[in-house]
Amino acid sequence: MHYLYLVHKQFDIIIAGGGLSGLTAAILLSKTFSVLLVDPDSYPRHKMCGEYLSNEVFDALKELGVSLNQLTKVRLDTFELSSPNGKTVRTKLPLGGTGISRYTLDFVLYKLVIRKAQVLEARVQQAHYVDDHFQVVVGDDVYRCKQFIMATGKRSALDKTLNRDFIYKKSPWLAVKMHYQFDMPANLVQLHNFDGGYAGLSKIENDLVNCCYLVHYDSFKKHKDINTFQEQVMAVNPQLDTFFNTAVAQWEKPITISQISFEQKQPVEDRIMMIGDTAGLIHPLCGNGMAMAIHSAIIASKNLTLYLNGKKTRDHMLIDYSTEWNSVFASRLQYGRYLQRVLLSKTLTNFGYRAVEHIPFILPSIIKQTHGKPVTLDV
Ligand SMILES: Cc1cc2nc3c(=O)[nH]c(=O)nc-3n(C[C@H](O)[C@H](O)[C@H](O)COP(=O)(O)OP(=O)(O)OC[C@H]3O[C@@H](n4cnc5c(N)ncnc54)[C@H](O)[C@@H]3O)c2cc1C
Repeated sequence: MHYLYLVHKQFDIIIAGGGLSGLTAAILLSKTFSVLLVDPDSYPRHKMCGEYLSNEVFDALKELGVSLNQLTKVRLDTFELSSPNGKTVRTKLPLGGTGISRYTLDFVLYKLVIRKAQVLEARVQQAHYVDDHFQVVVGDDVYRCKQFIMATGKRSALDKTLNRDFIYKKSPWLAVKMHYQFDMPANLVQLHNFDGGYAGLSKIENDLVNCCYLVHYDSFKKHKDINTFQEQVMAVNPQLDTFFNTAVAQWEKPITISQISFEQKQPVEDRIMMIGDTAGLIHPLCGNGMAMAIHSAIIASKNLTLYLNGKKTRDHMLIDYSTEWNSVFASRLQYGRYLQRVLLSKTLTNFGYRAVEHIPFILPSIIKQTHGKPVTLDV
């Protein structure tokens, strides 16, 4: 169905999704082009995330106008991993990271977006490529644009509308997140293993601690209720037992999401540019999805700018974006899948813990495989 006679308004670019990738692309592209960013939620808002931001995007954020130093004092340079019995190994993080909540980070980016781009609090329902343009359906309105970008995150109804392969595969992962008051070193990221999953603990701004965990539904379903699961399964790890017994929750209820898919996706489908988790979600234990979301938005914006300035054809732009995306991210995602398998397999985990205990450089070298070099804006 085409909406040729109902077109509401035209833009150079329409972006569906105002998380880190959509916000970054909107800031970069609205410097030169007309941009509409569509997201159903208002800002600021909490989001599912471990809130460890890899320093590979520290400089890129500065160039965008975000000074992380002014937003948070939490510099994370040490990583601690505990096995399900609570045994720990520690290592320095090769590049390090910053502890910052999505509530704060997304809001700061949003404030930069609204300087030049238009923002609509709504949901994109459909997008069609028609006559070298896109028609984008939002509620009862149809918008037209030269390029449509999808930045709708891990999973969205729009994935179904567009018939994307991964959406039809059930995923057994669910995630839980909550902010707490808890005393822990401000430079430490902890990853605690438990039966069927792992939990990340690290500080964010305002002296709070974010606890975010990912769990396989097979492990969770016997308990169903979050508190019981935390007490009976997670607290078997003494590190988590201490945490849940002393930490003070800051919200009445945690944020939860289910059906988190780590299936392979494509960075371009139906001529639509996919950025952030929409192109591929790295396993959270790599602590790198936020940096990848920002970085993929930079790569997409660079290619799109060349196309809209007449320096590339649409086909070239899409091929170049796809090629660059794969060369920068594909092996990290693959590495993340291996790592997740090792961390959740009892035999491999015990072997792995013994190995990292005795060969100190293994852990930093694994971390390096899932991270990239520092990124700058080259749009
Ligand atoms: C449990 C867990 C822990 C994690 N921990 C970390 C961590 O510590 N460090 C790290 O770097 N990464 C982490 N990640 C990954 C990180 O959160 C993501 O990679 C990052 O949020 C991706 O940003 P995004 O812009 O792609 O998507 P999102 O931030 O998810 O934004 C997508 C947006 O699209 C909107 N949307 C959806 N559908 C539509 C539609 N039809 N129309 C318009 N808008 C729509 C949504 O409302 C949402 O605002 C974690 C992920 C999980 C699941």
